[in-house]
Amino acid sequence: MDLQRSEHGIGRCSTHGDNPAVGVCVSCGAFVCSVCKTVVHGRILCPKCLEEHVTKLKRDQAHGQRGFGIWSISLFAVGFVFLLVNIFAVPETASDTVFTLVGTGILAPSIIGLVLGILGLAQKTGSSRGMCIVGVTLNAALLVLFLFFIIVGLMIGI
Ligand SMILES: [Zn+2]
Ligand SMILES: [Zn+2]
Repeated sequence: MDLQRSEHGIGRCSTHGDNPAVGVCVSCGAFVCSVCKTVVHGRILCPKCLEEHVTKLKRDQAHGQRGFGIWSISLFAVGFVFLLVNIFAVPETASDTVFTLVGTGILAPSIIGLVLGILGLAQKTGSSRGMCIVGVTLNAALLVLFLFFIIVGLMIGI
């Protein structure tokens, strides 16, 4: 469309009126010159739309990190509840199946919670690093505690 025209030197950059346009912003259709043309994933963006794009990207990542943090802490809570159940509600005479179920209830959430927390920390931007760190720490602590119980249990068993 207008790109055709601009390539023939007719269009002018909408930001720098003196510069000939070398492309058209895919987002708003503004002409861009070689100075302000930015190619993102093969698409041309003008300075204004680039800024919006970056802002949106940061916002999405922030949401992502927040989600990871919330999930990480929630999963720790699930694992912790199972740990309490294991300590206070499961009699020592309970069957192996019960112990396996409770063990899985502690182990699975804490491992997944740990991974999600680390994934959250791996996000470059976002304001929920603290939440992710708390999630990672709590889940790691729960995991270590659980493994400690198992090892002690095995040693006593022997
Ligand atoms: Zn634009
Ligand atoms: Zn320009």
